[in-house]
Parts: sequence; structure tokens; C-alpha cells
Amino acid sequence: MRFDTVIIGGGLAGLMCGLELTRQGLRCAIISRGQSGLHFSSGSLDLLAHSPDCTTESALEALATTEPTHPYSLLGKTQVLAYARRTEALLSECGITMQGDVGQPHQRITPIGILRQAWLTPEDIALAPKRGERIAVVGISGFLDFQPHLVAASLRKTGAHADALEIELPQLDALRENASEFRSVNLARVLDGENQSQSLLSALLPIAEQYDRILMPACFGLQDNTLWRGLNESLPCPLSLLPTLPPSVPGIRLHTALQRQFVKNGGVWLAGDAVTDVIHDGQNVSAISTRNHGEIPLRTRFAILASGSFFSSGLVASRQGISEPVLGLDVMQTAPREGWTRSDFFQPQPWQRFGVKTDSSLRASLNGQTFNNLFAIGGVHAGFDGLSQGCAGGVSAVTALHVARQITELSGEQP
Ligand SMILES: Cc1cc2nc3c(=O)[nH]c(=O)nc-3n(C[C@H](O)[C@H](O)[C@H](O)COP(=O)(O)OP(=O)(O)OC[C@H]3O[C@@H](n4cnc5c(N)ncnc54)[C@H](O)[C@@H]3O)c2cc1C
Repeated sequence: MRFDTVIIGGGLAGLMCGLELTRQGLRCAIISRGQSGLHFSSGSLDLLAHSPDCTTESALEALATTEPTHPYSLLGKTQVLAYARRTEALLSECGITMQGDVGQPHQRITPIGILRQAWLTPEDIALAPKRGERIAVVGISGFLDFQPHLVAASLRKTGAHADALEIELPQLDALRENASEFRSVNLARVLDGENQSQSLLSALLPIAEQYDRILMPACFGLQDNTLWRGLNESLPCPLSLLPTLPPSVPGIRLHTALQRQFVKNGGVWLAGDAVTDVIHDGQNVSAISTRNHGEIPLRTRFAILASGSFFSSGLVASRQGISEPVLGLDVMQTAPREGWTRSDFFQPQPWQRFGVKTDSSLRASLNGQTFNNLFAIGGVHAGFDGLSQGCAGGVSAVTALHVARQITELSGEQP
């Protein structure tokens, strides 16, 4: 099997890169071992958290001075903003409707009712309430991964009039028998079934007549948000959803939409497979072996590492240090080991910035020697803290598109 590009890892970074490459007509495979960060995430994407009195542009300028190894600083403000806009267009081409854009960050409501800045948020997910808005936070009886009382209490602090309510949905009784089965994804498998909208509508209608907006847990719409649209049109007040504790229905839906489009574009999706060997001469990768295709390595002109951070085993911590397990690439880490963490759990943690070092083209290196055709993108890349800097999804998308552009340009040249 011969490809223009083989991508290791099918999370947000790998998929965005694969989508852009296949759109340009390049032959591309993604090897994906298992679930990605998206399966657990809110479905919202962050570009770069900043205070309301500055713009994303000025925040990127400040970052370039204070954080020169941040992936955004390697690329520069102009390119970051251009790739962010391109991301918005690509998501739209995949049929994904998001609220917000690069010029207008917004506040979304988290699963515990706190407001958090975001760049893009799925159209069905709740944004910040208006002062004085009458909100019904509606839980589902027996569903513990969403606590309407917590959410309502947090929203009241923002000036909204929020009440916690609960609805009964008897069609979920079979799941209720086992508390560990009563999770958002399993609820969605029932509620997304045929003829479920009427019972939801009947349960929500009396509430909707008394409030300005209903918030309820995102526990339907695994494939698309048809059910939400139908309910929203039929109810007398708007319905917005809130992501629950993981696993996340909006995150899975985003992953599915990207993956579907990648395959539609002609991409090869090798699911449940893992890279076992990368064949290279220290400067160029020529082929990649996988667990399921051991006998037939995937020959490729370019290789991309999009294997994520510690959460996805793209990085591994041991007593000896931090390593990148696929090739043993050069990583950035602060030594000694005692410096990896801070005792205050809520402080930014140094280990979050560990990852694979690259040059400004995002080419990775091994023992100080930079590869010509191996790039590192997304969570596996060093130099950023997606949580405290509010940039995880943005770094994945922006680095993915930067590498896709370079590969597209290089592919136009003679092999
Ligand atoms: C709980 C949670 C909440 C989040 N919330 C937000 C949010 O609100 N906003 C935001 O912007 N971002 C959020 N994120 C981050 C975001 O969803 C992505 O996780 C992040 O952008 C990293 O994406 P990635 O593609 O680099 O890596 P990942 O999503 O980690 O994907 C890496 C993939 O590579 C695969 N892989 C690893 N090694 C191999 C191998 N050897 N062979 C084959 N496959 C391999 C893994 O199985 C995985 O599927 C959240 C993440 C989590 C976990």
C-alpha cells in the first residue's frame, strides 16, 4: 500500500490534517488505535483564552513574547489566524454548524454551570445566559452524570433566574436497572431511536411554557442533531444542551462527522490498528508497519505523528523520564522529576507542556537530527498547556492545517 501521507492518530489533529490533504486529492491513510480526546471533550474548541479587554490577535502577539516555544509562536500570529478561519470553513464543509468565530470568542456553559471562554461551540450547546433570563435546568430522573442543582446554583451567580427540575422518561427504565449503564451515550442510543421525540416533547412542553429557555443534558444526537432541531422548533422556548461528564455525545458526534467526511473524500481509515514500527534512515520515513498489517508496511512520502498527549499514550511517563513511544523522538521536558507537577492541583501543571520538539515547520527530530518528512501535530507537540491556556482544540486544528499546507506544496514538486 502506497500513500502520499500516513497519519498516526485519528483525533482532532489527525482528522483535520487528513481532511485537508484528501480535499487536495492526496492519498492519505489515518491509523487510529482507539478513542480520541474528542470522545471525552465538550465538543467546543478553544483557540486561546484571553481577557475580554484584549483581542485574540493581541493575545497571540503577547504569547509570542512570553511563550516562544508555544506552537502558535512557532507559526506566527498571521498564520494562526488564517488556519483558524480555514478550520471554520472545513467544519462547515463537514456539515458541522458551530456558534462563534475567530473574531468573536464567546462564553459557553460547562457541565457544572460555570462560564468558560470558547472559540467554537456546537449549535445545540448552551452559551452564557442573559441577566434575568428565566432558565429551567432539566435533569433526567436517575441520571447522575448531570446535576441540575449544581448547574442552576452556578447560573444564579451570573444573574440568571435558574431553577433545577427533573423529567421522567420511562423508556429509559431498562437502563436504570444498572447505574453504570445509565450514561449519556447509552441514553442517546435509546433516545435517538424512532418515535422518541414525542415523549421528550410531552415531558418538556409544560416546562417550556413557564421559562425563557430550557437547558438539559446532551444525551441524544450521537449521529446528528435532528432530534434537537425538531424539539427546538416545537417548543415555545429555546432548548439548549449541556455536555455531561464523559463520555460526551457532542464530542463523539464531532469526531464522527470529521471521520465520515475524511472517508467520503477518499481517505483510508484504519480503525483499531496501532503503529508497531516506523522505517526510516534518521532523515526520511519511508514506511510504517501496523499491528493489523504486519506483513505489508504502508509506504509513504510523508508521515505525521498525531498521537495525542499522555491521555492517548502519545507520550509516556516513566521513572527515567518522558518519552514518545512510537519513534523515541526528542521531547521537551523540565527536569528533575519533582518539577513535573505543582502541589496545588488547580495551578497550571508543568507536565502539560511536555511533548515532541519541532522546528517552525513542525518537523520532529531524533537525537538532534531533524526529519525531512516527519511532522508532529496536536496534543503530542510540546510547549503549550491546553487546559490553563485554553488552546487545546486550536493547537490541534492550526498545527494540522499548517502541516497539510506544507505537504500539499511539497507534493506538487517532483518526488
Ligand atoms: C475530557 C476532555 C475535555 C476536553 N475539552 C476541550 C475543550 O473544551 N476545548 C478544547 O479545545 N479541547 C478540549 N479537549 C482537547 C481536545 O479534544 C483534543 O483532545 C486535543 O485537541 C488533542 O487532539 P489530538 O488529535 O492531538 O490527540 P487525541 O485526541 O489524544 O488523539 C490521538 C489519537 O491517536 C491514537 N494513537 C496514539 N498512539 C497511537 C499509535 N501508536 N498507533 C495508532 N494510533 C495511536 C489514540 O488512540 C488517539 O485516538 C478536551 C480533551 C479531553 C480529554
